[in-house]
Amino acid sequence: MTETAATQPVGGEQPAGYDSAAVERRWQARWEAEATNVADLSDGPRPFYALMMFPYPSAEGLHVGNLFAFTGNDIYGRFQRLKGHTVFEPLGYDAFGIHSENFAIKVGVHPGELIPRNIDNFRRQLKRAGLMVDWTHELSTTDPSYYKWTQWVFLQLFKQGLAYKKRAAVNWCPFDKTVLANEQVEHGLCERCGTPVEQRFLEQWFFRITDYAGRLLSNLDRLDWSESTLTAQRNWIGKSEGAEIVFRVQDVMSFAGSATVSAGMSGEVVSTPVEIRVFTTRPDTVFGATYLVLAPEHPLVDQIAGDEQRAEVRAYVERAAKQDVVTRKTSKEKTGAFTGAYATNPATGQPIPIWIADYVLMEYGTGAIMAVPGHDERDFEFATEYDLPIVRVVAGEGESAETPLAQAFCETTACTLVNSGRFDGLTVDEARTAIVTELAVHHAARPVMNYRLHDWCISRQRYWGPPIPIVYCDACGTVPVPENQLPVLLPMIEDFRPDDSGVSPLARHEEWYHTTCPQCGAAARRETDVSDTFLDSAWYFLRYPSSERDDVPFDQALTKKWLPVHSYIGGNEHAVLHLLYSRFITMVLKDAGHIDFEEPFTRFRAHGLIVREGAKMSKSKGNVVNPDQYIDQWGADAFRTYLMFLGPFEEGGDFRDKGISGVKRFLDRLWKSVHDARRDGDADVEVLRKLHQTIRKVGDDTARLSYNTAIAAMMEYMNTLRAGERTPHVDEVRALVQLVSPFAPHIAEELWSVLGETRSIFDSGWPGYDEALLAEDRVTMAVQVSGKTRGTITVPKAASQEEAVAAAMAEANVAKFVTGEIRRVIFVPGRMLNLVV
Ligand SMILES: [Zn+2]
Ligand SMILES: [Zn+2]
Repeated sequence: MTETAATQPVGGEQPAGYDSAAVERRWQARWEAEATNVADLSDGPRPFYALMMFPYPSAEGLHVGNLFAFTGNDIYGRFQRLKGHTVFEPLGYDAFGIHSENFAIKVGVHPGELIPRNIDNFRRQLKRAGLMVDWTHELSTTDPSYYKWTQWVFLQLFKQGLAYKKRAAVNWCPFDKTVLANEQVEHGLCERCGTPVEQRFLEQWFFRITDYAGRLLSNLDRLDWSESTLTAQRNWIGKSEGAEIVFRVQDVMSFAGSATVSAGMSGEVVSTPVEIRVFTTRPDTVFGATYLVLAPEHPLVDQIAGDEQRAEVRAYVERAAKQDVVTRKTSKEKTGAFTGAYATNPATGQPIPIWIADYVLMEYGTGAIMAVPGHDERDFEFATEYDLPIVRVVAGEGESAETPLAQAFCETTACTLVNSGRFDGLTVDEARTAIVTELAVHHAARPVMNYRLHDWCISRQRYWGPPIPIVYCDACGTVPVPENQLPVLLPMIEDFRPDDSGVSPLARHEEWYHTTCPQCGAAARRETDVSDTFLDSAWYFLRYPSSERDDVPFDQALTKKWLPVHSYIGGNEHAVLHLLYSRFITMVLKDAGHIDFEEPFTRFRAHGLIVREGAKMSKSKGNVVNPDQYIDQWGADAFRTYLMFLGPFEEGGDFRDKGISGVKRFLDRLWKSVHDARRDGDADVEVLRKLHQTIRKVGDDTARLSYNTAIAAMMEYMNTLRAGERTPHVDEVRALVQLVSPFAPHIAEELWSVLGETRSIFDSGWPGYDEALLAEDRVTMAVQVSGKTRGTITVPKAASQEEAVAAAMAEANVAKFVTGEIRRVIFVPGRMLNLVV
């Protein structure tokens, strides 16, 4: 769909009296004065919560991508209001976090000063865009009245044992001086600054989201979300069914209670063999496990390393510690070291060597794998590199136990087991169950479900975030700050820069750091980490309706009435983390009895991305669309409508500067049509038929966010309405103004008042359509010229011969064959027309 195809502009001038800037100013002022966009949260009937992902208020101001998303949500919200809902469309700012902090450092201004300035600019830009935002519920995550409750959320998790602290390997950017998530590391480099990423061990706060993995996964089946988002969530949670298999280390024993064993008594101590547990999705291949691999950080490495190998093992562990997690996962080069120890393969009873290698990560599964080089590509490469045995235990059609392996054989369908003792001949599926059942008898295996999902690290050793509300006391240990002492205010310190120590800048702020224990009153120290920005945004939708309440995070009655969110629109870049964390926090709050639903967003749609003249927009290319400039030139209505017209909302499109003029001409013609409309006489029945078809199409398309086709349909109707520069009847334009209103709200309000209405068009109701009128009372017939078919015409069934001939002559292909005078006309009504020349 292109704008040129659908638009047949007449003239290019702004019609007399249409000053878009004046119209938009007038209606924005009036909406504010009359509180048109303020939702009656306590009494409004048929509540509809139309939520959009709130923006990070950057210093550059509103990005056109933000406006694309917000306009799409606004149209949907306005449409729902016209359909009779009380619509709540709030907006706020996701203003904590490293982006703001880094920018503040760059320009040398405190984020506490910078952010309010940026927010003011965003608000100004958003208001110009004519969004139906209820500004009485605006919020910012940096406001103490907001983050007080973010800290409260942390405490709810802490109380339920879902927040814990542990030493963990993290990606560390030495330039940004912060921890990076795996997704923020690209090819071993920091995504933000390109510095090579290091691995560090830090004490960090985690949330036990893995406890919720099963629920987070199974609930996806009942959500009305974009399919791509559901798939991304499923992959992220990454459930795999398999087994845990136990391998005993030979000649290495662990002594129960060895710390208290005194000399001479060790003979009586009960000792058990050291066990290595591995998770595998292919227990059917256990007979082919020819060696084990531990992550270099595995706690057993030091204990099992042989004296001869110890130095080499330690050197390898040190080297691995310097690498980042992403490089380790993706590196093609396979390196490792033999520990000198052996374990018993529980299926074959044979000893197999234990290696360490950096391609095994402590964070995944158990930090150890059974290597089956015959049937796993990475294991095959490793075994080839270090000359370890490769055994075939699965054979495909036409293969046998002896068929050589030139590479790992990973097929499973129609495959059977070989070299696997009494399991030979079983299919892979049969063998999975049979082998686990058999090993389970000897306590050497159990079926388990594994998830790729990790616990959520929420600690940030930075300044610009809500302090984690924990106090450390020598006598009482880790003590949560009592809820009635929230918020733990973020102090306004001058030196907020992170340093190399890995400790938050808050630790340098002595009078803040030292406090008293809430339990015993003794001297105590504050937790100096702040929480992840994703925690701020994991619950903000709960806060909007209750943003005026300072005594509770959310009002019970309002929450019951307005949540879960009816429609949520946002970018696919948040398809995983933000949406997953929001779902998790909602589940936790439900389990704690604070709310009675566990899925926060009933419907979610991911919007597409827009490019400009075929290229990705970026500051460095200097091709970023500045919304202010376009609104100045074309008006917000034309800009909004163009943004929605440039492609399917869920796919995005190409912003072309010349494309906007077609949309502007459509609005100009609308303006003129309403002003010129006659009130006398009757509306044309054919035009009305087209109008009712358009009402149906625009309603259906808007409901499924197909805004570009809805706009195209309105443009097409405009062509019918003004065909041959006819003067429209007022009954032919009224509903059109309503259809246009979600897209171009200011001009629609103005024209609505021109039509004599006094209330806001958004309280007028969505126009209905007449089914009877919709029925296409038209027929398509072939047109012949001297007996040869030259084209077709579509005319009313009851069209006369004269009308049919006129329609035929309007067809270029017919007209060009009618060279002379028409000598005879053969007309079979509704069937055929033959012009004899
Ligand atoms: Zn960096
Ligand atoms: Zn204490």
